[in-house]
Amino acid sequence: MSYSTPGTLTPVLTDLWDKDAPYSLATYREHGGYEAFAKALQMSPEEVVNQIKDSGLRGRGGAGFPTGLKWSFLPPPDGGPRYLVVNADESEPGTCKDIPVMMADPHVLIEGVAITSYAIGCTHAFIYLRGEVVHVYRRLLNAVREAKEAGLLGTGLGPRGDYELEVTVHAGAGAYICGEETALLDSLEGLRGQPRLKPPFPAVAGLYARPTVVNNVESIASVPGIIAHGNDWFKAMGTEKSAGHGIFSVSGHVKNPGQFEAPFGITMRELIEMCGGMRNGHRLKFWTPGGSSTPIFTEEHLDVPLDYEAVGAAGSMLGTRALQVFDETTSVVRVVRGWTDFYQHESCGKCTPCREGTFWMRQIMHRLEAGKGEPGDVDLINEIAGNILGRSFCALGDASATPIQSGIKYFREEFEAGLTTPARELFPYEATAVF
Ligand code: NAD
Ligand code: SF4
Repeated sequence: MSYSTPGTLTPVLTDLWDKDAPYSLATYREHGGYEAFAKALQMSPEEVVNQIKDSGLRGRGGAGFPTGLKWSFLPPPDGGPRYLVVNADESEPGTCKDIPVMMADPHVLIEGVAITSYAIGCTHAFIYLRGEVVHVYRRLLNAVREAKEAGLLGTGLGPRGDYELEVTVHAGAGAYICGEETALLDSLEGLRGQPRLKPPFPAVAGLYARPTVVNNVESIASVPGIIAHGNDWFKAMGTEKSAGHGIFSVSGHVKNPGQFEAPFGITMRELIEMCGGMRNGHRLKFWTPGGSSTPIFTEEHLDVPLDYEAVGAAGSMLGTRALQVFDETTSVVRVVRGWTDFYQHESCGKCTPCREGTFWMRQIMHRLEAGKGEPGDVDLINEIAGNILGRSFCALGDASATPIQSGIKYFREEFEAGLTTPARELFPYEATAVF
């Protein structure tokens, strides 16, 4: 199978999803599972880090930071502990890729954890999971137990038996901000989850102030494939600067929403075709390339290659590849109001622009949705959003501002209509639409 043809699927992390009991160690091993870990243990830790660095793998949690480079930022060993923390707190509205991976194929993540831990000299790794997904928590616990019983985790690992690794699965308490890496670390330490000042980055002072690598589930789960098949295989997928495969979660008003694992650079037009097109008789109005935290796109962006560079150049961010599709029956004001409610609710309150700004933006969005906007409201909310952007302590503040600013950019007349007409009158059909 060719992995490099644009517009085709590249089942790597999703490869076992249609097999019987894909989550079991037996199925995983039947398909070559844990062979990459055995291969990595024959290499030196530095060789593993260098291979991941040269592969071009970029962080799949949204920011796209080069994974191997992040590993190489750890200071030289000093005899004290170093940690790997997997960010499994997937919560970005529309994002649904890490949870299915962990549910269907938890061992690909655990093998990635084992290889990464060996590479960075970590003997105790943590998986910080979103607390609400109890079924995923149980599945991960079971997979860790299976791996331990099979001698794949624990003590006496490697050809010389001198490597050991413990893996702890930790369930969070359900706060979106705990997906921010430093808030996550505070939460893991038992503190209230709020972002820390960076620098120092976690690579230098992370969990318990020790050198720590924090990586997203999909990033770590991509490591075994790269070790097993090599960098040429990985680079043959995707684009020059956004190499490899990624899971694109398509939701909303398409016929068959779902997860599509494809090379970076696939377009939204191709993905909508894979979903069987838009709902019957409807046409696309707007969509998000990377969840609600990224500026919205419209029909004019359907052919933008979905890679970090091209999406950025077109005025948005690839983020978590959470592609939410909305058709012409949708009120953009109502959707943006929903997202604004979310960010206001999840703002941790640490910094003023986000804490106060999300509160005021929420008031205005509710007025506009109800058709009770006041003269100047559209400019006012645009200005508040502009004052949050770049002035908040972490990315949540910026995320609250971008849907409002981009919504006004493309659909200003709908926001202005909110001065006199309720959204439910302008878009009566949407009230009954099923998402
Ligand atoms: P960031 O760009 O600040 O950092 C990315 C990573 O690189 C971090 O791990 C950081 O520690 C590391 N890094 C950056 N510069 C470094 C340096 N000089 N030295 C050492 N390490 C360095 O981004 P972020 O705030 O961590 O993440 C924001 C992204 O998260 C957004 O793009 C958004 O799409 C995404 N997001 C994802 C979810 C989800 O559910 N997966 C939810 C919300 C947001
Ligand atoms: Fe907290 Fe919002 Fe400030 Fe982030 S931007 S630290 S979530 S108040």
